[in-house]
Amino acid sequence: MIHYILQGHELQNDVQTIIQVFYPNLHYNRSEEIAPLGLSVVSCMEKGVASAMLYRDGKKVSGWSMEYQADEASQKEEKRLVKRTIYQVLKEETGLRPQWGLLTGVRPAKIISGLLAEGKSEEQCLDYLIKDYLVMEHKAKLALIVAKAEQKLLGGNKPNDISLYIGIPFCPTRCLYCSFTAYPLAQYKDRVDEYLDAMFLELEFLASYAKDFELKNIYIGGGTPTSLSEQQLERLLNKVAVLFDTKNIEYTVEAGRPDTITREKLRLMKEYGVNRISINPQTMNEETLNRIGRRHSVEDIRRVFHEARELGHDNINMDLILGLPGEEPQDVEHTMQEILALAPDNITVHTLAVKRASRLKEEIDQHTLATAEALEKMLATTAEYAEKMGMEPYYMYRQKNMVGNFENIGYCHPGKEGAYNVQIMEEKQTILAAGAGATTKTVDPDTDKIERVFNVKSVEDYITRIDEMIERKKKGLPKGGL
Ligand code: SF4
Repeated sequence: MIHYILQGHELQNDVQTIIQVFYPNLHYNRSEEIAPLGLSVVSCMEKGVASAMLYRDGKKVSGWSMEYQADEASQKEEKRLVKRTIYQVLKEETGLRPQWGLLTGVRPAKIISGLLAEGKSEEQCLDYLIKDYLVMEHKAKLALIVAKAEQKLLGGNKPNDISLYIGIPFCPTRCLYCSFTAYPLAQYKDRVDEYLDAMFLELEFLASYAKDFELKNIYIGGGTPTSLSEQQLERLLNKVAVLFDTKNIEYTVEAGRPDTITREKLRLMKEYGVNRISINPQTMNEETLNRIGRRHSVEDIRRVFHEARELGHDNINMDLILGLPGEEPQDVEHTMQEILALAPDNITVHTLAVKRASRLKEEIDQHTLATAEALEKMLATTAEYAEKMGMEPYYMYRQKNMVGNFENIGYCHPGKEGAYNVQIMEEKQTILAAGAGATTKTVDPDTDKIERVFNVKSVEDYITRIDEMIERKKKGLPKGGL
């Protein structure tokens, strides 16, 4: 447990997130007094001085302060100062030098996009991240590359463009690290058709709403959409084809786990115009696959990938996770050799995040997680192999509780970018969403103001309350839902 005390400000979230960078996955407690045992961080903003002090077992260990112009400082600057002072004392205490410096937010590239839009030069953007936010040079440069790639994609956005997300929240088993809305198929098998029936009503409503807009992307995600049976998948693809114009759009199915993909499902996806699929190994090491509860083999991944190619799928993404329990840098090297041999069109490299709702969080004491140094090597390996495969980074995001506070990054061959991924990250386009746990997000093209309409998470509630989900959209979507 780490205790923290705020004096002269209320920037609790900023204090806690920067402490988490140095001490991930602990309990954090805001308190009024220095704790007699363990570590306490005091963050103070008073009379033009920002300071942080560290106490161990009630005794002061170190402190650091900076002067600032209290009457001129914006809230953004105050937040930066709070983080900057804590960063300094915790860096001295732990010896760690976080590669993303003070940046704890989800989208580093968004900061650069904002600065470029204000007319700043690339050099000024890099300077800002490196000097003000203590980001390491190679990460700042990565953020700049990604920001430019994202801008290229977003530059073509028109005010009338929208995307559609369809959620299939079922999976064959639950992965160790999963925190998504994903229900075990064995238990819900008898309700899947009912779920689809309910979702079709929601899709019918969204299709009538979407008539005034231009649909650019459809993304069927989950869960694992291919955990539907062949008949159910065809029902879904057919319904989408009847309701929406799927020509000339990016149409993705996150096929996901190889144990759910059959030749027939791959054929159906091709027949209905799906032009981007994901086959997600996470790792190409058999032992790790068992450890994380995936119940499929490395050979299954290879087989499904080759079948997809044979059937003409020419835009295949593969998701990988770095820092899976028990993995060392040489395991990632092995995974990347296998990926290189398969030659996908995109790879999405995630760094393991220990989520609150995951089994991993509950069982954390039973697993060995990679150190920050090991993760750095793993990230460098994946970047090196992406380059060997002729891929470039094009989108990036970060999460809380990522081991080592690194990033998730998408690489692709030029022209094979997953545009939906960028739209959802950068929040510049309305995304209509159907299914349990799905969130519709509307973006006002004039003001960038974002509004959300939520669906209930539980499958049972979603089925029985589908009319209410549609009603929520009638009220929550601009123009009264229609
Ligand atoms: S496949 Fe994805 S959604 Fe399903 S259990 Fe694993 S991590 Fe969760």
